[in-house]
Amino acid sequence: MITALQQQFVDLFHTAPKVYRSPGRINIIGEHTDYNQGFVLPAAIEQAAYVAISPREDNELHLYAVSMQEMVVLQLHGLVPKAGAWSNYIAGVAEQFIRMGFTIKGFNLVLHSDVPIGAGLSSSAAIECAVAFALNECFDCALDRLQLVHLAQKAEHEFAGVQCGIMDQFASMMSRRNHLIKLDCRSLEYEYIPFQLGSHTMVLFDTNVKHSLASTAYNNRRQQCEQGVQWIAAQLPHIQTLRDADMGMLEQFVLPKDLLVYRRCTYVVKEIQRVEAACKALKAGDLNKLGELMYETHAGLSCDYEVSCTELDLLVDLVKARPGVIGARMMGGGFGGCTLNLVEADRVDELINSVQISYERATNLPLNYYLVSAADGSGRVDH
Ligand code: ADP
Ligand code: MG
Repeated sequence: MITALQQQFVDLFHTAPKVYRSPGRINIIGEHTDYNQGFVLPAAIEQAAYVAISPREDNELHLYAVSMQEMVVLQLHGLVPKAGAWSNYIAGVAEQFIRMGFTIKGFNLVLHSDVPIGAGLSSSAAIECAVAFALNECFDCALDRLQLVHLAQKAEHEFAGVQCGIMDQFASMMSRRNHLIKLDCRSLEYEYIPFQLGSHTMVLFDTNVKHSLASTAYNNRRQQCEQGVQWIAAQLPHIQTLRDADMGMLEQFVLPKDLLVYRRCTYVVKEIQRVEAACKALKAGDLNKLGELMYETHAGLSCDYEVSCTELDLLVDLVKARPGVIGARMMGGGFGGCTLNLVEADRVDELINSVQISYERATNLPLNYYLVSAADGSGRVDH
């Protein structure tokens, strides 16, 4: 991939590039906890965005996306978002460097990525982080990784128009091979948790659906969480988020008001506890416990938080009965995307075969799958 990208760059621009990589990400456990100031447990994956880059003498951006077979030329000064354009994820990052007062020049860039688009692996953050890392080095801006995380997140907010949390860019930039990041979404403190899968491996099954409910349901769930906190805070003013709440508080102050809000809050409080439990299990080398927690997360997301869908539920049900599977859950915001499965490595081929047949028969949809492992974050890769 890297050699081919370098060759393509030379063919297009007649000069040798530097090549940078930044990965997509998975989240092992901790779903819908970020906006409740809880914990998440992501890891970067091998699948990544690669950018080949060389600075220019003028103020032009010459950008080529291999998968789109499209060249775009932009002026460095006066960059603005363009609806739906892939160049936003590059231009938005360049614009942040200018905004911060760095004197950068134009550049040539070729983008190639094997992070699937829209599968919940954050192909957008992968590009932003690769470009942020590349521009920082090429123009000697001397920002540290954490500053680049925030810069890339701002680019997504302002140029892609997606008000994402910090997890995607954090995981893409900061990850370490064979580790998870336990990230505190309140303080942004983080800890690397060793992640040894031994005879197990991870596979993602992609439903190939994205139901249109997703964004309204997301806003609605956030409101329900806020409502629950308000009812608790009316009695206990020191409780400002569900991170601070416990089941006793929910039973005393939320349940009498509204059963649905209570169920939503219950999921979140338990999920924050599950992240802690997962880290404890991993430190004790107890992968089976992690798997049980993943099943619990799925049940909570499906029954209490109600952000799953028939395709995701079907995929989890299909693997539950299969030999060698120790845990599975839907991953991401919900209503589509992938399930994450913990499987014995020598059972994974037969699992993929059988799930593919059953899923395609039941839904008439193709089933894609991706083998994933916990990989390094952003870096230069051509030397
Ligand atoms: P995801 O959940 O994968 O991050 P997004 O909708 O946030 O999905 O971002 C996907 C967008 O990122 C694509 O529509 C495209 O504009 C851009 N993108 C992702 N991968 C590539 C690629 N290989 N080449 C060009 N653009 C890409
Ligand atoms: Mg994205």
